[in-house]
Amino acid sequence: MTTVGILGGGQLARMMALSGAPLGLRFLVLDNVADACAGQFAPMVVGDYTDEAALAEFASRIDVATFDFENVPASSAEWLSARVPVFPSPRALAVSQDRLAEKTLFRELGIPVPGFVDVPDRAALDAAVAELGTPCILKTRRLGYDGKGQFRIKTMADVDAAWDALGEQAARVGLILEAFVPFQRELSVVAVRGRDGEFRSWPLTENWHVDGVLSASLAPARVDAAMAAKAIAHARALAEAMDYVGVFALELFCRDGELLANEIAPRVHNSGHWTIEGAEISQFQNHLRAVLGLPLGDTRMVGHACMLNWIGEMPDADAVLREPGGHWHDYGKSARAGRKVGHATLRADAQAELADALQRVGAALGREAQVLPVIHALQT
Ligand code: ATP
Ligand code: MG
Ligand code: MG
Repeated sequence: MTTVGILGGGQLARMMALSGAPLGLRFLVLDNVADACAGQFAPMVVGDYTDEAALAEFASRIDVATFDFENVPASSAEWLSARVPVFPSPRALAVSQDRLAEKTLFRELGIPVPGFVDVPDRAALDAAVAELGTPCILKTRRLGYDGKGQFRIKTMADVDAAWDALGEQAARVGLILEAFVPFQRELSVVAVRGRDGEFRSWPLTENWHVDGVLSASLAPARVDAAMAAKAIAHARALAEAMDYVGVFALELFCRDGELLANEIAPRVHNSGHWTIEGAEISQFQNHLRAVLGLPLGDTRMVGHACMLNWIGEMPDADAVLREPGGHWHDYGKSARAGRKVGHATLRADAQAELADALQRVGAALGREAQVLPVIHALQT
């Protein structure tokens, strides 16, 4: 019996455990909160990621370790990897934990990236704004997620406010200034690389964010074959450069037909949740196959799929459950503003059918604004 250890016990760990059950896998989750939602399906060690006693107990009960949470301290990942195989490797994790390191890697690999400048102190911020111009975005280098740790600088008049908001974090987690990209669309490549280097990608996903948080994803994205091939080639080059093992996502901005890389998520990704029902093998199961050295599964799509995130609280399930291609995911979390508590995936054989289903669900739940951009995309 193989036991997979997962650092972090959120919905990603939960969906991983659910997808691994048919493979006969066991799971053990390490999280610092006792009611982490993956704990409803997997035994847990409750403890901090930096607590050596908790890490030692965790390591002693697992065959391989992976992550649900990308901000596990690199030192903890290193400590574990001296005792059990850890995938992705602590080195790959470290690169994608730091916006400066990952953007530098993008550039080295010839992957186009928005202008960016390291901002170690206040004087550097002034110089960086002068270099990149406005609008631009000040971001923490580390520990940001769901748009947290970011400040949008629209004009020079906002520079003081940006420093007031984030300046104190410069010493602890670092800051980076990025040019603001007036993109038309956001895309992601969700891909997997096996222990033996085999690489597979699911079809590209188109994403819509609201206030920096993913709201909806559509697959396949509306991109021509050449652009899709280029995006996937970027993802592959990154995976090979990092000797990455497992599933990851590459987030891209699409501006005037050009792709610019935003960030890598070194784990299964919210924009890949549609693969549970919309692809032959999901990102969750392929991640497990990759970290265990098993053959990777087919990433082919089964029709068209749209995922809608439920943020803050769960809506009523009935409208989705009534849909022929409707799939419901309640993460079993308590409601809290801004928290990802669940999602739904609508799947259909044809685009028009998917648009109709989105229309019905949006109207029934009073979430017209959430489904509208996707319906529009499906009609153009
Ligand atoms: P995630 O939850 O995806 O890890 P994050 O906190 O790491 O989010 P980003 O992905 O950098 O943050 O930014 C969140 C969203 O903010 C992006 O998906 C995009 O919509 C917007 N955004 C970020 N950077 C830029 C930029 N340079 N230009 C334009 N929009 C941006
Ligand atoms: Mg991120
Ligand atoms: Mg992002």
